[in-house]
Amino acid sequence: MQTARAWDTRYARGGNLPPLAGLPVAVKDVICTTDFPTTCGSRILDGWVPPYDAYVVTRLREAGAVIIGKTNMDEFAMGSSTENSAFGPTRNPWDVSRVPGGSSGGSAAAVAASLAPVALGTDTGGSIRQPAGFCGIVGLKPTYGRVSRYGLVAFASSLDQIGPMTKTAGDAALLLQVLAGRDVRDSTSADLPVPLYKEALNGGVRKLRIGIAAEAFGEGLQADVRHAVSTASRVLEKQGAELVDVSLPTISYALPTYYLIATSEASTNLARYDGVRYGLRAASTDLYSMYTKTRREGFGPEVKRRIMLGTYALSAGYYEGFFLKAQRARTLVRRDFLHAFERVDLILMPTSPTVPFRLGEKVEDPLQMYLADVYTIPVNLAGLPGISIPCGFADGLPIGLQLIGRPFDEPTVLRAAHAYEQATQWHVRRPPLDGATKPPATRSGTSSAGKPPGKPARRSAKQSRAKRSRAKPRRRS
Ligand code: GLN
Repeated sequence: MQTARAWDTRYARGGNLPPLAGLPVAVKDVICTTDFPTTCGSRILDGWVPPYDAYVVTRLREAGAVIIGKTNMDEFAMGSSTENSAFGPTRNPWDVSRVPGGSSGGSAAAVAASLAPVALGTDTGGSIRQPAGFCGIVGLKPTYGRVSRYGLVAFASSLDQIGPMTKTAGDAALLLQVLAGRDVRDSTSADLPVPLYKEALNGGVRKLRIGIAAEAFGEGLQADVRHAVSTASRVLEKQGAELVDVSLPTISYALPTYYLIATSEASTNLARYDGVRYGLRAASTDLYSMYTKTRREGFGPEVKRRIMLGTYALSAGYYEGFFLKAQRARTLVRRDFLHAFERVDLILMPTSPTVPFRLGEKVEDPLQMYLADVYTIPVNLAGLPGISIPCGFADGLPIGLQLIGRPFDEPTVLRAAHAYEQATQWHVRRPPLDGATKPPATRSGTSSAGKPPGKPARRSAKQSRAKRSRAKPRRRS
């Protein structure tokens, strides 16, 4: 509140302000902040307050943002539903019996419910895009290397990226501008100029070649999702884009490849939680049992499963057969994408094969849970930028459209997303739990609640009908 008041005072005085002056931002709790604990949704970090801010947090503060809190997540970002948090699950603001997606489910739900206008998430295999899709918001995973990971608690270092979760592509551009850039403390951060993302928004999609891969529309894709995503592709075509068939034959190997690489990297990254250096320390009589007891009590079941899988895949005798083979498969997946990008500027596919599922539905079946990321994981393996934007609803539950770009071509990704938003306005729909659309504001019919600032109150007849029906009194929980 103090920081916010300080910006208000400066605003009242007039003059130049930094780009995010006074903007409240929620931050996924896997990103280090000196003024809040950082838990990673785990008991093992109990009581740990980072001694430094992550690079992205420093950048946000310098740009005037006010960090208002940390958001819930699957423990160490491992999961697709935010049910793997030591602090209990987060619920989907569109239907509280459903999951918000994960692992950045807290950030997605917070933005969807207008608890924060924008948030940071992280995406190792889909954790920005999948929850964004499930909660009806925009989520951008930048190219690997575009945003520094300094101060991001590592899950799988060759895949992790930080990115914005917002209500519009324009807001994502605004945030990415602040987050992107070279940071000497993360040797994987790219030493490339940062384009002006906001300026790239308005070019439209005329003449843009958008690839459609049959492999991404096969078995397991829910009919409503297929319909919404195909309709979205035709909307873009109508705006002047050219739809081109492309082939991504190896993406069916992406899921097993990812679960070998991500677990292997996680097993080494998580070795540091030993009861000595961070957070929790179990009482014990000797050093070795202190290590094992701390890890037994501190980690949840999914994290333990992954450490075991990763340790196995890296062990002598299995390394060549599993880890090394997965690395080779990863190269093939990347090659498929780069090959397709010789003919197209973007690739379009669903964000997730289904709409948000019910809480508890997949917790007992990890393989089913892993399948929730079947369309997002290949993008991480290839290191590409990808965005999820709202493209429709099925039974009142949001559906996400995924647009994937060439390495470091976030401008084209954002431009197409923005053009789509202008044509459809799915992104202005707000869930019943949206704090910003409380009646009577929504009943007036002229309200701009939930709309991005400065947007004309323009709605299709169908959307107006939907809006009116949403204004009916609802049971709130
Ligand atoms: N759901 C995937 C997993 O569990 C991806 C998670 C992520 O992107 N952090 O690994």
